[in-house]
Amino acid sequence: MDTTHFRDLLTQEKTTLEAQLATVGRKNPSNPADWEAVPSETGQEADPNDRATVLDTYGENTAILTDLEIRLGEVNAALVRIEAGTYGVCPIGGEEIEIERLTADPAANTCKAHLV
Ligand SMILES: [Zn+2]
Repeated sequence: MDTTHFRDLLTQEKTTLEAQLATVGRKNPSNPADWEAVPSETGQEADPNDRATVLDTYGENTAILTDLEIRLGEVNAALVRIEAGTYGVCPIGGEEIEIERLTADPAANTCKAHLV
């Protein structure tokens, strides 16, 4: 299988995801593979209403960041499979993953029959 096209798509998506992650979080200094949410404001506001808003945005950012991190993990795993030469092969049955499934989701790991 020619994986060049999918590698391009996945690399683009990875760049987009990392840019989105940077708007709601920061890379964990002690573990660059991990992201942690940051509130949109400093958290030092004197007004209690402002503090509540900060906590709300922190909770929202945590939820957004979790979704982005999961997707980034899937994209990275697909890129690893491309490098390993196992991309596009279903790990459950060993058959080729349908091209339309990969087109819809380049990070898809299983064929349609083994979709979980
Ligand atoms: Zn399968």
